[in-house]
Amino acid sequence: MGLKSFFKKEKKSNENNESKQTHIFIDNDNCIGEDCQKCIMACPNKVFDFQDNLICPNNAWACKTCHICESICPNDCIKLN
Ligand code: SF4
Ligand code: SF4
Repeated sequence: MGLKSFFKKEKKSNENNESKQTHIFIDNDNCIGEDCQKCIMACPNKVFDFQDNLICPNNAWACKTCHICESICPNDCIKLN
């Protein structure tokens, strides 16, 4: 399935009102999936879930960009920007 990017939310700069999109990237090719689930258990805002047997940030709007998921993933599958 490769690298997927999921829209999280739109942020607005308080200075020039420019919008900035934040994304959650998941490398499903290297994800262990159901046998791991560390990102699902670790996220304090319940962002992740399974969809078609793949990890998906179905509640990406709730992400607070704490980076816990990035640091806990054993295969370095999750990236935020
Ligand atoms: S950065 Fe934090 S809140 Fe956002 S998905 Fe990862 S663990 Fe959840
Ligand atoms: S922590 Fe990483 S390897 Fe484990 S289920 Fe989540 S994305 Fe996949």
